[in-house]
Amino acid sequence: MSRSVLVTGGNRGIGLAIARAFAEAGDKVAITYRSGEPPAGFLAVKCDITDTEQVEQAYKEIEEKHGAVEVLVANAGVTRDQLLMRMSEDDFASVLETNLTGTFRVVKRANRGMLRARKGRIVLISSVVGLLGSAGQANYAASKAGLVGFARSIARELGSRNITCNVVAPGFVDTDMTRALSDEQRENIVKQVPLARYAQPEEIAASVRFLASDEAAYITGAVIPVDGGLGMGH
Ligand code: NDP
Repeated sequence: MSRSVLVTGGNRGIGLAIARAFAEAGDKVAITYRSGEPPAGFLAVKCDITDTEQVEQAYKEIEEKHGAVEVLVANAGVTRDQLLMRMSEDDFASVLETNLTGTFRVVKRANRGMLRARKGRIVLISSVVGLLGSAGQANYAASKAGLVGFARSIARELGSRNITCNVVAPGFVDTDMTRALSDEQRENIVKQVPLARYAQPEEIAASVRFLASDEAAYITGAVIPVDGGLGMGH
């Protein structure tokens, strides 16, 4: 059955791989983008998730064209790395604003239609560093750890309405975000990963699609690591 799927930040990187995975399975996929030319093949809605009005407009357009969102993948996220000593309040607040409060905005809006339909799938994209911590990423790690508490609260609130909420925690994935790292940083990271390589975005997409499938109907509040073993032990 073709479902109405929304992937925030589905215009590139991990989000685009997730959007493609759902589209290949026959779902109607909407993606958000902020600027430039969005990739073809999806309903692309212009939306900055830090802006409540833009989120509302995006949902209205999706509801008109695809029906209420049945599967939400909250993927959009940013980094603004800095050692604590040099991290400004704006560095901290802006990352929280996108990664955590932005996710709250899109989940809250999706919840309306899901409650009415008495079903729904929500998948949040966190990160291995949310649980491991990461020097220079206190803002990012805090936002990603916050998603776990957020997801588990929602899982408890909405479980009886047949709405699941799970977290995927990727390790290091080959995208623009990690291409911004120096060669030395990239090599050091790979040394710590048991599988000794970066993930491809499609490998994250596969677990997201599984969590949204019928086979995963009894999984909620879970944190699924897709990190090559980097975060083992949590
Ligand atoms: P990219 O930097 O390649 O892409 C980020 C995406 O988020 C873009 O689509 C971007 O849109 C969107 N985005 C950022 N801010 C906003 C905003 N305010 N409103 C709407 N969209 C926004 O990142 P990745 O694909 O690597 O990462 C995707 C997710 O996976 C993120 O949440 C990231 O934290 C997480 N992750 C990534 C890992 C990695 O190694 N790459 C590891 C673990 C987690 P635009 O094109 O408009 O900028």
